[in-house]
Amino acid sequence: MIQMKNISKIYRIGGETLYALDHASLSIGNGEFVAIVGPSGSGKSTLMNIMGCLDVADEGKYFLDGQEIEDYTEDDLTRIRNFKIGFVFQNFNLLPKNTALENVELPLIYQGVPRRECRARARQALERMGLSERLEHRPSELSGGQQQRVAIARALVTSPSLILADEPTGNLDHKTGVEIMELFRELHGNGNTIVLITHDDGVAKKAERRLRILDGQVTEEAKA
Ligand code: ADP
Ligand code: ADP
Repeated sequence: MIQMKNISKIYRIGGETLYALDHASLSIGNGEFVAIVGPSGSGKSTLMNIMGCLDVADEGKYFLDGQEIEDYTEDDLTRIRNFKIGFVFQNFNLLPKNTALENVELPLIYQGVPRRECRARARQALERMGLSERLEHRPSELSGGQQQRVAIARALVTSPSLILADEPTGNLDHKTGVEIMELFRELHGNGNTIVLITHDDGVAKKAERRLRILDGQVTEEAKA
């Protein structure tokens, strides 16, 4: 599913050279649930941006679904983001003026799916998240946990190859965070591939496998 070989991202500030990612290599198989865990400044966002095709590496190779990313145009990358990856963010990133249903329909509309089918699939995704009573609510009318479940429905609705979640519990209270992690475990049980980025060891423990990131270097956590 994902293969990264000696990926580096280099920032030059004044005369200094900083390796935000320093020859990072990793490989994630279809259907895995992996947490990438590391402290602030370790390179998590940089790695997430490259994995999500929001940014490109300066060195190394990245294969997603067997396709090498390096030579793609901006349009190709947009297409990959829209068709292959479902994103979940710390701040939910929902459109505030739109209903839950409209938020979840959006990625399908971008894909050019017929309107009637968009509506049906969005409704189904929200029902799967236990939100069938909240289809017409706007984000401000939903709790944090409910907003994140709308965002997860939006990530799932296109049946992406990969779900990429960046600190998905970061804005939730402990109990709601645990519920969202249970939801990810359920999605994993249904065969989804999930990569979750977090600074929180407690959150990372809920994943099936952990990769540690420190100073831009990625290592496998030894099995307990
Ligand atoms: P994390 O997400 O784990 O907090 P980041 O990936 O944001 O880490 O950052 C990794 C390192 O790269 C940090 O030292 C950060 O200061 C640096 N960095 C990130 N983005 C930039 C940028 N646009 N310009 C310069 N340095 C950056
Ligand atoms: P949770 O335990 O999921 O965080 P809350 O206790 O925050 O849920 O919310 C309980 C109910 O109140 C939810 O079903 C939600 O629809 C409603 N609710 C929460 N916040 C708001 C709000 N700002 N405006 C209207 N309704 C809200």
